[in-house]
Amino acid sequence: MARVEFDYPSSLQAFDVTQNNAEHTFITGHFSVFDVINIAREADVLRLLPVAFYKACTLPFDDIFDGVHRGDGPRACLSMEDQKNCIKGWRTLMTMQMKKTFGWLDPDHPVNGCQTPARCDILRKNIRLGRRTWDGKALEPWNKSWGQHLCCHCERQAKSGYDMGRGKVWENLPAVFGLPMWNEILER
Ligand SMILES: [Zn+2]
Repeated sequence: MARVEFDYPSSLQAFDVTQNNAEHTFITGHFSVFDVINIAREADVLRLLPVAFYKACTLPFDDIFDGVHRGDGPRACLSMEDQKNCIKGWRTLMTMQMKKTFGWLDPDHPVNGCQTPARCDILRKNIRLGRRTWDGKALEPWNKSWGQHLCCHCERQAKSGYDMGRGKVWENLPAVFGLPMWNEILER
């Protein structure tokens, strides 16, 4: 259980630790992420669900609909209701990661005090273009290289916009998947 709690944390700080862990995986022991969702539902341990759904909805749709292999046992499958929660949540996360986590890349929001607007605009555009695959990026850790060549004003605004936006994604993660808010989940 401790390993499951580690892989499916209920705080952003703990989530960041899992992101830096080389063993970051969809399988915990014999349990796939779908098993974790099913067990958490059965045992009413809702705190595992937001991160479990976040991981699940980065899997191909075929896996979400048909289940995943777990060694030599039967496939692990989600209930119809949780398949729906995954797909609906995936769509919401796509919007949130563009508007919240990566809102600072939006070309329609110029940075006050930018010292080199033409250069900073191109740098932000290049980061946007380099991130055409948007699945599972809503809680992506900050990458130092993103701010490295921006002017100091843009770098500061990028990092604070990212921190604020990513924090909002985390705060709303349970709601994205049709769950009660964190405080209610953590009281159970
Ligand atoms: Zn700038």
